[in-house]
Amino acid sequence: MQRQILYNETQIGKAKAESAKDVLTKLNSDVEINTYKEFIDENSIYKYLRDDSYDFIVDCSDNFKTKFLVNRVAIENNLRCVIAGIKDFYGQIITINPKKTACYQCVFSEPIESLPDEGPLPVIGVTPGILGTLEALEVIKTVLGLPNLENRVLMVNLIDLRFNIIDIVKNESCFCSE
Ligand SMILES: [Zn+2]
Repeated sequence: MQRQILYNETQIGKAKAESAKDVLTKLNSDVEINTYKEFIDENSIYKYLRDDSYDFIVDCSDNFKTKFLVNRVAIENNLRCVIAGIKDFYGQIITINPKKTACYQCVFSEPIESLPDEGPLPVIGVTPGILGTLEALEVIKTVLGLPNLENRVLMVNLIDLRFNIIDIVKNESCFCSE
């Protein structure tokens, strides 16, 4: 897929996690990368949080269910988190500081299970590239103590090239306020 710049035709047939690790290790061999070839769900996600070696979760998932799960686990484990979502030419991104700022669920309603799954959302190749880079920027700015997207949602419209920020407040009836 043209948007997934970690991959090329020579890797066809190889596991994506391993291929990604190969490419990133060639970029910087000093970085330790752990890969897991497993879908994230209610059971598997806790295996990856079994020690205290994590500082930040960057959600790059492609579905709402996983985003709500990642948000909940981030809050429960007091881990900072950035979540981005995309559809065709549009995206949104939010950074969460557990207990202190609004979380993903303060802003977005969880999809109703009984509704049919929409299936894969259409996406134009550059959209995940831009939102993914913005997620990396959020991690860097948060670590450096610079202004970030806590209590704010950045709405990206790549048709009109508009970047709008919406101020949000923590929902006192949300689970993150308990
Ligand atoms: Zn919340």
